[in-house]
Amino acid sequence: MEKKIHLKRRTKRRKVCMFCVEKWNVIDYKDTSKFRKFITERGKIFPRRNSGMCAKHQRVLAQAIKRARYMGLVPYCAD
Ligand SMILES: [Zn+2]
Repeated sequence: MEKKIHLKRRTKRRKVCMFCVEKWNVIDYKDTSKFRKFITERGKIFPRRNSGMCAKHQRVLAQAIKRARYMGLVPYCAD
């Protein structure tokens, strides 16, 4: 309960999950242009708080990014 209030206060406007809006249930790892804005230039995924992604799509995206990294489309994060 306390956490929820805290979150509401911090984020002025609740972001909607981009992937839910676009109905991307499957994210192709080759479509780096799609998820490029959700990763940092070092290939790290933005925290959910910043990306406004829902938990489901965060997972799907993480999987796609992992695959993209393996294929060398996205850089590995340094840490
Ligand atoms: Zn979503």
